[in-house]
Amino acid sequence: MLMLDINSIRSLHIELTTRCNARCPMCMRNYRGYSYNSGYPITELLLEDIQKIFSIDFLKQIRHVNFNGNLGDFSNAKDALKIVDYFLTNSTSQIQIETNGSANTPEWWAQLANRRITILFALDGLEDTHSTYRIDTNWNKVIANAKSVINNNGNAVWKFIPFMHNKHQINECKALAKDLGFTDFTLWDQGRNQTPVYSRKGEFEYWIGTNGWPGGIPKVTDLLNNHLSWFDPSIKMSIDIDESSRLNCISMQNQEIYLAADGSIYPCCFTGFYPETMHQPGNSQIKPMIKNNNALEYPLSECVEWFTTLQKSWDLPDIMSGKPYICLNTCRSR
Ligand code: SF4
Ligand code: SF4
Repeated sequence: MLMLDINSIRSLHIELTTRCNARCPMCMRNYRGYSYNSGYPITELLLEDIQKIFSIDFLKQIRHVNFNGNLGDFSNAKDALKIVDYFLTNSTSQIQIETNGSANTPEWWAQLANRRITILFALDGLEDTHSTYRIDTNWNKVIANAKSVINNNGNAVWKFIPFMHNKHQINECKALAKDLGFTDFTLWDQGRNQTPVYSRKGEFEYWIGTNGWPGGIPKVTDLLNNHLSWFDPSIKMSIDIDESSRLNCISMQNQEIYLAADGSIYPCCFTGFYPETMHQPGNSQIKPMIKNNNALEYPLSECVEWFTTLQKSWDLPDIMSGKPYICLNTCRSR
């Protein structure tokens, strides 16, 4: 079995903040558009935190840094530019930034135009469709910010999530990306295709995907209660997963760790949905395995030690006996 110790880490995935200017309905920082926090902290990492967690000496072994995360957008972090500069100066790593791209000014984004940085801008269609999913973002602003990176000789990638409401625009967006000078166009299909969308207060607004579910428009509180209660590893549940599957840990293969915005360390973003406080299916299995994993309090070498407990759980026969649902759902061999 692969083991990940501090000396073998080559790649970092970092969530700088849990703040975001957008309200994407399938993002866990809200519930289908409804303002609901299921237990994550509103927090962010400052330059001094990053310097404390990743010493200059440690950075010498790092080859790749990805600024993304589960619950916030890179561009909302106060020290984002200074932190990127810390990595550029003290490591030879390639840097990737994934963003909704709608916050800040073209001048701010121009400072990230650097051949070692690739910025993936979430552009889910053209002006008339983009904000159906990327609620509270502005297509023209994202394009202006991306153009600023491109015109200053930086790398911008057009990242497109296909939905029923925008997939007829894929070819047009691809052509526009080429015309504008994006270095790449990427389709990212994760099955985000069907949901009712609610206002911040919980009033139904529209459907993403087909118009309607059997039974009409559900109340957001009913859906939320189901979401919070369906996963209970102490009872035999009906889950459409072969629980005996072998696990191929992507993080171990990539020699990567995940840093959440409160300083806590996980093998990956899937396990890093704040298991100690957040109500997420599967978090209750991960929580008791975690020990001393906050890198603002403990050395990084100690923060990864609990991964061994997680790895041992992969050999268990099924979810009821403690095999993590999160790992099965994400990394089972198919
Ligand atoms: S841009 Fe990212 S962090 Fe912000 S709401 Fe959308 S998915 Fe969530
Ligand atoms: S979900 Fe589990 S198996 Fe998959 S990358 Fe994360 S820790 Fe590894």
